[in-house]
Amino acid sequence: MTVSEGESRGRGSSPGCNERTDVAVHLVGAGPGDPDLLTVKAARLLAAADVVVHDALVDERILDLAPATAELIDVGKRPGRPVPQELITALLVTLGQQHRNVVRLKGGDPYVFGRGGEEALGLLEAGVPFEVVPGVSAALAAPALAGVPVTHRGVSGSVTVVTGHRRAGDEDATDWHALAKAGGTIVVLMGVAERAGIASALIAGARSANTPVAIVERAGTPRQRVSRCGLDELGVAEVEPPATIVIGPVAALDLRDDLQLHALVR
Ligand code: SAH
Repeated sequence: MTVSEGESRGRGSSPGCNERTDVAVHLVGAGPGDPDLLTVKAARLLAAADVVVHDALVDERILDLAPATAELIDVGKRPGRPVPQELITALLVTLGQQHRNVVRLKGGDPYVFGRGGEEALGLLEAGVPFEVVPGVSAALAAPALAGVPVTHRGVSGSVTVVTGHRRAGDEDATDWHALAKAGGTIVVLMGVAERAGIASALIAGARSANTPVAIVERAGTPRQRVSRCGLDELGVAEVEPPATIVIGPVAALDLRDDLQLHALVR
């Protein structure tokens, strides 16, 4: 059946109005874990993929959306078995040049601490047509799923997303003291290992020791766990990665809890 312009193909199946047809590699955000938080476009591309190149953090239930015939390549960077970023980018270039329908699936949003920018640059340099499909980042989804609004009228008017991961000689290292003074909500990704140092630096930068903190582990998965503490307790809080750490007055809120809701609207 052919579909003429303006005719509906039915809900959910029709490509977006700015869909390109020449794309070989799709850099796709997989969201925080729950398949229901995939974008419609991500689900559609997955269902049509020849090859799926994915990270360790991508949920099995999402990979199950790819056809049984699709090749799944796990390039997850786990401790002890690292796959260098250059090799991943080179793999995407090769697969793209083979004109296979490649889905590069990355947790959350591809351009939020996902090194998606480096992959995009590599594809651009090699002349491989690609597109980015934004995803729901853990930076915003993990707080929301824990009942924490990252901004809230009268409580916090800004949110800063930072990495807690430090590399020796890092030029873009976070200035925690400046961040402490800037105010607003701080969302830390990859911050579990460095949490004690981050808390001390923020307190040294004049954030109060009892600033509320919410720690959201494995958000959007059946094993989601939320714990709350004060900033001075963050260093000794038990946390298992992957976790998103939310720092600021909004972290005291839990909008899943209607008792709190009543207190707020009082
Ligand atoms: N591109 C991803 C972030 C990659 S950095 C995104 O936009 O979400 C990886 C970090 O994201 C983890 O160390 C953790 O801090 C956070 N993260 C990823 N998935 C998470 C989840 N399901 N629950 C809580 N935090 C998560």
